[in-house]
Amino acid sequence: MNQTSESNLRQTIVEIGQRMYQRGYVAANDGNISVRIDDDRFLTTPTGVSKGFMSPENMVVVNSENKVFSEGKPSTELPMHLFIYKERPDVMAVVHAHPPYATGFATAGLSLDKCVLAEVIVTIGTVPLAEYGTPATEELPNTLKPYIHSCDAFLMANHGVVTVGSSLMDAYFKMERVEHYANILYIAKALGGERVLSKKEVEKLYDMREAQGIKSLNPGCYACQDECIEESCVNCEVKYDTDGPDYFNEIVEKVLAAVRKL
Ligand SMILES: [Zn+2]
Repeated sequence: MNQTSESNLRQTIVEIGQRMYQRGYVAANDGNISVRIDDDRFLTTPTGVSKGFMSPENMVVVNSENKVFSEGKPSTELPMHLFIYKERPDVMAVVHAHPPYATGFATAGLSLDKCVLAEVIVTIGTVPLAEYGTPATEELPNTLKPYIHSCDAFLMANHGVVTVGSSLMDAYFKMERVEHYANILYIAKALGGERVLSKKEVEKLYDMREAQGIKSLNPGCYACQDECIEESCVNCEVKYDTDGPDYFNEIVEKVLAAVRKL
């Protein structure tokens, strides 16, 4: 498919909307999808229309100032999309939905930022939990600020999920992956709790990620990177030999790094 053709982009948004609706990632008129057409024009889903029942002509054309160049009203969450495009010139598409498992984690105050599943580490990296912000206000983009340059998928507290990508399908597949990951993690927790991969194993996955040409934004364990000075990090299973000189030096280095950040 030629992603650059506007009619193809309109059609792809329709198909992604149908998939999101059929999979229960959105209910009623929830969710929104957008794509970059060129340097300053974007195509976005209209407000007040179910993502499962859209047609290509429903899409709204806007610029980076949220000025509308077509019929229809854009999604009320468009400022969040435009914020992402402004901060991340590499991003070509943004998808927002409320898939139940991932949104369940976001509602329980749990991020998806532990190194648990190999495919997720290689393809998405960590999925942080952004603070709650009132939908359709400036608060929402602000909550993404701490993570926008280091992640491609975000949980929004008490709300849902946002994913970004190099194309519409890339952003959509990240949404699928996040929800699938949350579903698996939910089952693992019911079975006694997930086991995290060791740092050594995670490093091998980082190498794989780079070999595949996937940009390493923040593939690691967001929960404990850099700051972790615990003897045994439950997130990464870092085991130190507490009698050896390496343990002491490593702790000193981590404390100094933490102090420098203050
Ligand atoms: Zn929403």
